[in-house]
Amino acid sequence: MSIRIVPALIVGGGPAGAAAAIRLAEGGVFAELIERSAGPRDVVCGGFVGWDAIAALERLGVDAAALGARPITRLRLVTMKRIVETKLPQAAAGLSRRCLDEALLERAAALGAKVRKGVTARGGEGRTIRLDGGELLAAETLFLATGKHELRGLARDVPAGRGAGAVGLRASFRPGAADMARLAGFIELHPFDGGYAGLLLQEDGSANLCMSVSAARLRRAGGIDGLLEELLREAPRLAAYFACVAAKWISVSNVPYGWRARATTEGLFRIGDQAAVIASLAGDGIAIALTSGIAAAEAHLAGTAAPDFQQAFARTSARPLKLAEALRWAAERSGPRRLLTGLAGFSPGLARWAASSTRIAS
Ligand SMILES: Cc1cc2nc3c(=O)[nH]c(=O)nc-3n(C[C@H](O)[C@H](O)[C@H](O)COP(=O)(O)OP(=O)(O)OC[C@H]3O[C@@H](n4cnc5c(N)ncnc54)[C@H](O)[C@@H]3O)c2cc1C
Repeated sequence: MSIRIVPALIVGGGPAGAAAAIRLAEGGVFAELIERSAGPRDVVCGGFVGWDAIAALERLGVDAAALGARPITRLRLVTMKRIVETKLPQAAAGLSRRCLDEALLERAAALGAKVRKGVTARGGEGRTIRLDGGELLAAETLFLATGKHELRGLARDVPAGRGAGAVGLRASFRPGAADMARLAGFIELHPFDGGYAGLLLQEDGSANLCMSVSAARLRRAGGIDGLLEELLREAPRLAAYFACVAAKWISVSNVPYGWRARATTEGLFRIGDQAAVIASLAGDGIAIALTSGIAAAEAHLAGTAAPDFQQAFARTSARPLKLAEALRWAAERSGPRRLLTGLAGFSPGLARWAASSTRIAS
């Protein structure tokens, strides 16, 4: 099988890969992008698009409001004993990834990027990528944007144990009138022992229900059904939504919260979750994906070496990642969680500070 040389190859068409493709095309470099999904699909994500993500989307020529994103201006923190509500520092939005990812890929293709959907990269060696059917691509510059999924031969250097920690779960449902009114304008967070759930309304009127739970807790509960059963007693206000879920939950495991790529090799840019994985509770993963995709493309256009880009991005993301990890630690344990909710109730400014400080760019 012959090898085709590709000047700029992007593997993965989530927000990070699409952002890189758009910015490269704007700079006159028409990348080839490989995405394994053949069309729009649901992914495990809370669908919370922060104000920094909205700004990054604008830079890329994608208007979240025009896609029907639901405005979110307030945070509701719900525990067994308390409900605390506070204003967000800036307006955010609820948008399904089905809609967002498709809009970004359409924009990349419209600008001239070669978007190949329904094609899977099977493995990589250096910057040579093997696709379905054995096709081989030798990338002069490779943007690795496979997100939560590792590419054989180019996996992230996640220390043993870190990735085993968290499992993401997602379902959606059609809210009734009362839930619709309760959720309008809000991101609702329900922390519980070993995890949390987040709820919001999306552009199509459905509600997105996403959970992150420690693998240990899920194992102890005997799986998703067991966990939902336990939460009926532990978090009744959250569990009230479970009855509305008709479709199957989708899941992703081994989410290495807090990890970031501190180094890379020449010509290989790691972007999105392949660059840094922020605790999902912070709702900033999409912004990190977009921002790192844009920054990597700009670095490439400017002739900056990939290792220099990667180190700089690791520095930029260090503070939000660390703070988000501290919040996740506290939210998942009953004593610290009580303290956290108490503080948020006592001083709404503190919750706003936490929301601002876990942003990659504000
Ligand atoms: C439970 C949970 C909830 C979250 N909620 C939020 C939230 O509300 N707001 C927020 O901002 N962030 C949230 N995040 C984080 C966010 O989902 C990620 O940070 C973001 O999706 C990263 O984007 P990405 O482009 O790097 O990767 P992804 O979105 O994972 O995209 C990667 C793409 O690569 C493709 N791909 C993978 N492997 C291959 C291959 N071998 N060949 C070809 N294509 C491939 C995939 O199909 C996919 O389209 C959440 C994360 C979790 C786990």
